[in-house]
Amino acid sequence: MRSPLLALIAGALASVLFAGTAHAAPVAADPFSPVLTKNPIYKTGELGTETCEEQPLQRDDLDGARVYLEFLLDCLADSWREPITKAGFTFKEPKFSVISKPGAATGCGKFPRGAQAVYCPNNKKITFLLDPYILSEPTELFLMAVIAHEYGHHIQDLTGVLNIVDRYKGKSKARIYDEARRVELQAECMSGAFIGSVWHSLGRRDFDFKYIVQTAQVGFDDGIHGKPANIAWWLQRGFDAESPSACNTWAAPKGKVR
Ligand SMILES: [Zn+2]
Repeated sequence: MRSPLLALIAGALASVLFAGTAHAAPVAADPFSPVLTKNPIYKTGELGTETCEEQPLQRDDLDGARVYLEFLLDCLADSWREPITKAGFTFKEPKFSVISKPGAATGCGKFPRGAQAVYCPNNKKITFLLDPYILSEPTELFLMAVIAHEYGHHIQDLTGVLNIVDRYKGKSKARIYDEARRVELQAECMSGAFIGSVWHSLGRRDFDFKYIVQTAQVGFDDGIHGKPANIAWWLQRGFDAESPSACNTWAAPKGKVR
């Protein structure tokens, strides 16, 4: 059975429920699996997207926002297909659906209140919340960062990372939280890597990305996604490298994965 925490991996502003069913074992000193620390995805070089054009996005336009995200999903597939294949895995696009209020079925339970988007490994689907609030003042680059983060979870799924992390047996609570943060920060880094790789084709000012990083920096710490300063750090790190090689959170010092 899939664990409640990672069955539903939420994006920005997430509040994932933690069931606390772990064994009361001491903090595991076991090293992480090589699937996590030495995954071949780290050696595939820069993401190869040539161009990614953003679609115009108006206020209060649900269909327009959906189209905006669908274009990005095409760009994300173009970016990740080659590295996934090069690393010896089978590439498959995720499923995608848009909802207008929390509570909808995701394949991993109900969409949690407070989340913007989730990825469910059971059905390999990204569910994105486009409610009237976000549509009233849509920030395109924020939506891009969220969809690219969820795509990062899909990449973790395709490369075997989620499968390893999603086994709770014998892990202490501290260990489970540590792994959850490394998963989230890795997805954040992969989001940055994608945005960095297509940045030249977006025709944006550098300040636009700085604004997204600054927004991450002043977020809140929910115990799962990492401290805001670390979220911002991994996002920027991925952006600068334009490659998943920068995203090995499993070999990172403790201070960077808190
Ligand atoms: Zn996430």
